Amino acid sequence: MKDKFAREISYLRISITEKCNLRCTYCVGDAPAAAQADGGDSAAPAPAQVDGGDSAAPARSDGGGELTLAEIVEITEAAAELGVRKVRITGGEPLVRPDVAEICERLHAIPGIEELTLTTNGIFLKDYAGKLKAAGVSRLNISLDTLKEEKYRQITRCGSLKDVLEGMKAARDAGLLPLKINVVLLKGFNDDEIVSFVELTRREPVEVRFIELMPIGAGIGRAEQYLPGEEVLRKVPELTRQGVSGVACLYRLADGLGQVGLIRPVSSHFCAACNRIRLTSDGHLRPCLHSPEEIDIRYLHGEALREAIREAVLSKPMEHVDFTGGKVSKAARNMNQIGG
Ligand code: SAM
Repeated sequence: MKDKFAREISYLRISITEKCNLRCTYCVGDAPAAAQADGGDSAAPAPAQVDGGDSAAPARSDGGGELTLAEIVEITEAAAELGVRKVRITGGEPLVRPDVAEICERLHAIPGIEELTLTTNGIFLKDYAGKLKAAGVSRLNISLDTLKEEKYRQITRCGSLKDVLEGMKAARDAGLLPLKINVVLLKGFNDDEIVSFVELTRREPVEVRFIELMPIGAGIGRAEQYLPGEEVLRKVPELTRQGVSGVACLYRLADGLGQVGLIRPVSSHFCAACNRIRLTSDGHLRPCLHSPEEIDIRYLHGEALREAIREAVLSKPMEHVDFTGGKVSKAARNMNQIGG
């Protein structure tokens, strides 16, 4: 599927729940955890309701709650028929949804879907890594903004770094490789850890991806925490440019086993390389992360569903909103409600 600007749209990000077991300050804001780990040190996933009854998110007007497994499969089949080749499962936290492995297995089996990946905070990964691999997930992105236990609890307001590190080990053991670690750059919080994160790529074949803090949802009003991606290159000048992978610019240490990615949605527009559309957990297609436009496809089937997917692709804007001068996203939802 080509959009109006001749970009080939072949990537669908599917949020399977708005709920999250963490409450990262810049992501969900002050909302209570919807499906909380019992203090963050539990090995077992907290039971997550699928009806959205205790969700921190406001109820949507359609009142439909989360898409069912069958609805997600039907939409993905239609998208695959139209040319979607890559699917990323996200949320909220996808691993709080009890049928996450079944969702992955069913999507992986859809003809045309060549790559299935998942983004997680890693807390429940210890229990899920093997199941996800068996279900056809090829790689994971794990969100981790600090390598220090106390700071981890501070930014997530309830999580335990130990659980994430155990989850990462389980992912490696299960062969979910290469691991990608997403680090949101936060001035005054983790700028002193940039070097430590880059050092991980010297010793391990991981990709550490530094992401600029976007003024979206709970990220709005945090301009003082924003740190441009260039800061990574200033702190580690020996990083050498490797090329581009999607929206990330890649760098490497001369003797590094892994790579460093810079994702700069604020300081540099990467929209020309955007090949994705998003599906929210309540069945809305979003042509662009930062636009308010949503197309409700929940109760569409057959040709009407396909037509709505084409419409979403054709309504992708050329670029997302320009964030200079204090301008903010027009998204009208928090990141956990859209799917990062
Ligand atoms: N729970 C999963 C996780 O933690 O990876 C998936 C959902 S989370 C919304 C996806 C990603 O969005 C995380 O890496 C998170 O740090 C990032 N994110 C959330 N709010 C953001 C913001 N305002 N700017 C940049 N990244 C943000």
